[in-house]
Amino acid sequence: MEAREWIYPQKPTGKWHTRRAWFTVGILALLFALPFVKIDGQPVLLLNVLERKFIIFGIFIGPQDYWLFGLMMLSFMVFIVLFTTVFGRLWCGWACPQTVFMEMVFRKIEYAIEGDATRQKLLNKAPWTSDKIIKKGTKYFLFLLVSFLIANLLLSYVLGVDELSKVISEPLEDHLTLFAGIVAFTAVFYFNFAWLRDQACTVVCPYGRLQSVFIDRNTIAVAYDHERGEQRGKLHKNQERTIGDCIDCHQCVAVCPTGIDIRNGLQMECVNCTACIDACDSMMDRVGFEKGLIRYTSENAIENKTRKLITPRVIGYAAILLVLWSGLGFMVASRSDTQTSLLRAPGTQYIENPDGTISNLYTFKIFNKTNKLIKTTIKIKDQRGKLIFAGNPDLTLQPAGMSEGTVFINMPKSAITQRKTKLPLAVYQDGKELEVFETTFLGR
Ligand code: SF4
Ligand code: SF4
Repeated sequence: MEAREWIYPQKPTGKWHTRRAWFTVGILALLFALPFVKIDGQPVLLLNVLERKFIIFGIFIGPQDYWLFGLMMLSFMVFIVLFTTVFGRLWCGWACPQTVFMEMVFRKIEYAIEGDATRQKLLNKAPWTSDKIIKKGTKYFLFLLVSFLIANLLLSYVLGVDELSKVISEPLEDHLTLFAGIVAFTAVFYFNFAWLRDQACTVVCPYGRLQSVFIDRNTIAVAYDHERGEQRGKLHKNQERTIGDCIDCHQCVAVCPTGIDIRNGLQMECVNCTACIDACDSMMDRVGFEKGLIRYTSENAIENKTRKLITPRVIGYAAILLVLWSGLGFMVASRSDTQTSLLRAPGTQYIENPDGTISNLYTFKIFNKTNKLIKTTIKIKDQRGKLIFAGNPDLTLQPAGMSEGTVFINMPKSAITQRKTKLPLAVYQDGKELEVFETTFLGR
C-alpha cells in the first residue's frame, strides 16, 4: 500500500471563498438551529434511525410507514441524481457537512494556530519545543471540542433536543448508553477531521465515487479551460506570448484541499470547493490576463462553446421526480393517523346465537402512525352491528405505539344476506374519524 501523502493546502482567499464563507455561516446557523425548531410540539426534523422514527418537515414517519419512507428515499435519490447531472458537485463544495466543517472550521483553526501551508510543514518537521507542544496541544484540544459539539449536533437530530438535554442534565448513570454514543461519535468526528480529512471525500464517500455515472459533458463543474490555457508555460517578461494563458504557476494545485491538479481534467477527487478558481483568478489579475481560466463551466461549453442545461437526460429525471413527488404528495395527503388490521381469528367459524344474531371472532392490531398519544375507539359503520371486546383492551395508543386484542362482531341475521359480507369499520378519537377500514364477516 502506498504511503499517504499528507496534504497542506494553501489558505484560500478570494471572491469565491468569501461567498462560501458567508454561505457556511448560513448553513451552520441552520444546522444548529433546526433541532430546536418545532411544529405543534414536534421537532421539524428528526432522524431516529435507532427506533425507525423520522420526522421530515413536520411529517412523522413511523415503523408502519415503510412505503412512505421508501418513496421518500427514492425521490431523494432521484433528486440527487438530477441535481448532480445539472450542477455536478455543487453540494460537495458548498453544503456538505464534511466540507463545511473541514474547510471552514477545522482548517480555519489550523491556519489560525499553525499558520499557512509552509509554516505547517515546518512546524511538523520541527523538534518538540514548548512552542510546538502548545500549538499542537491547543489545536487538537479545539478539534476535540468541535468534534464533541458535532457529536451533540448529530444526536440532536437522532434523539431530539429534549432527549439529548436529559442526557446532559440528568445523572450520568441514567443515560450511560447515550453518553457512550456521544463519546463514540466525538471520537469518530475527531478521527475524521484530524486525520482522515480529504480521504473521507476521495476514498470513503460513495457520492463522490458515483460522480462519473451522474455527470455528462453538459454538467456544470469547476473546470480548467484547456482550450484557453494550453499550451501552458511560464511567463517571460518583455516577450510576446504565443502560447496559452496558463502560466504554470501551480497556485491552483497549491490551494487544492484534495491535492489534485485541475488541469488534468475532471477528477473524482475534485470536491468543487472553488479554491483553485480564486487562486487562478488572482494570478490572472496579477499578470493582466482575463480572469476565469478556471471557472464554473461545462466540458461542452469549453470545447464547443455551447451551454445546455436542459438535456433529454435532465428532462427524463425531472419527469420521474415529478411522478414520485406526486405519489408522495398523494400518500401524505391521504394517510390516516392510525393503521388498523382486524382479521377473523384463524380456524374459527361463525356462531349463530339464540338471540337471532351471528358472531365472528377477530383479532385486531391498531397502530398509532403519529408521534402523539391517541385515545381511540373502534365502531362498526353499520349501526345494526355490535363490537364486543374480549377483556377490556386499552385502546390508548402511545406515540408510534400499538394496541392489540380480540373482539367479537355481532350482526343480526337479517343484515347478512351472503356467505361473505364486507363490513366497514372506523377508528375515532374524540368523535373525529381517523381511519376507515374493512373486514369480512362470515354468515349463512
Ligand atoms: S480542483 Fe479546485 S475545486 Fe477541485 S477540490 Fe481542488 S481546489 Fe477545489
Ligand atoms: S493557477 Fe491558473 S495559471 Fe496557475 S497553473 Fe493553475 S491554471 Fe495555470
